[in-house]
Amino acid sequence: MSKVTVIGSGFSGLASASFLAQQGLDVTVFEKNAEVGGRARVFREDGFVFDMGPSWYWMPDVFEKYFNQFGKSAKDFYDLKKLDPGFQIIYGENDVLTIPASMKALMDEFERIEKGSSKQLEKFLKEAEFKYNVGMKELVYKPAYSWFEFANLEVLSGVLKVMFLVQLVLMCESTLRMNA
Ligand SMILES: Cc1cc2nc3c(=O)[nH]c(=O)nc-3n(C[C@H](O)[C@H](O)[C@H](O)COP(=O)(O)OP(=O)(O)OC[C@H]3O[C@@H](n4cnc5c(N)ncnc54)[C@H](O)[C@@H]3O)c2cc1C
Repeated sequence: MSKVTVIGSGFSGLASASFLAQQGLDVTVFEKNAEVGGRARVFREDGFVFDMGPSWYWMPDVFEKYFNQFGKSAKDFYDLKKLDPGFQIIYGENDVLTIPASMKALMDEFERIEKGSSKQLEKFLKEAEFKYNVGMKELVYKPAYSWFEFANLEVLSGVLKVMFLVQLVLMCESTLRMNA
């Protein structure tokens, strides 16, 4: 049986190791820290718990897809509980921004801070959804053996639109900076 060494036990190392083991390879993972998890470790001190990296469970579909490839689901390993509020940003004493879980409550909070901003938030999220879908569906899961994988009209127009939106954001940002 071929032997493979994976250095690092963050998400990437653990995912690589499990796919290699699934292919029947004899895999050893080396980790320099005392625990696995890489950036996704927690640090505990005096009853406080600190995330060493991720605090947000982003891209749940990616985790689910990963576990599904081993005939499992994320819920076989951990329970997800939606927090409400999701989080708080503490700018100073008595200056706290609380981010609620529901979209309606978040939009109300935006409106409270600035009239009309909830519409902008909605627009931003629609664009972000489009970019995410194009990125995930057309780019991320392609093996990237050849440029031809990306050479179909739907992919190209999606990528161009994403690039256009990125450019637009950069242009707006530099205009704002110039005007500041
Ligand atoms: C401050 C911060 C906040 C973040 N917030 C979020 C978030 O909210 N949501 C989210 O989804 N993502 C977040 N991320 C990103 C996420 O943490 C990373 O994308 C992910 O954890 C990276 O995993 P990885 O396996 O690629 O690398 P790492 O987790 O860095 O793993 C690399 C591993 O390799 C080990 N290693 C390195 N060199 C050696 C060696 N020579 N020998 C042995 N072991 C070695 C390291 O000790 C480590 O365990 C955040 C990152 C940071 C830094």
